[in-house]
Amino acid sequence: MHEMAITQGIVDICLQHAHDKQIRQVVIEIGDLSGVVPEAVTFCFSACTVDTLAAEARLEIRQVSGLGQCLDCGTEQPLERLYDPCRQCGSYALRLLKGEELRVVELEIDD
Ligand SMILES: [Zn+2]
Repeated sequence: MHEMAITQGIVDICLQHAHDKQIRQVVIEIGDLSGVVPEAVTFCFSACTVDTLAAEARLEIRQVSGLGQCLDCGTEQPLERLYDPCRQCGSYALRLLKGEELRVVELEIDD
């Protein structure tokens, strides 16, 4: 389960930024095309934060839908899977604009 390693990385980043203070809330963005399962991250987060300053932290996950732009016809379109063809012209030359995010966007720490 690679979510465990990913979540551990997220928790490490949060703890580094918390400067030994209690973490109240962590907000992360997960792209639908990132291959990361939000439910698994939620589960791993609880496990990774035991006995840390993030043990009481709430985790909020914002899912980001896939968005691509066709390099041939310029159409922007929702992408449900990587490597789907363009809905307009059938081209496979799509540039991914959104959907691969995996990052901490907010961190709330005790004063
Ligand atoms: Zn196209």
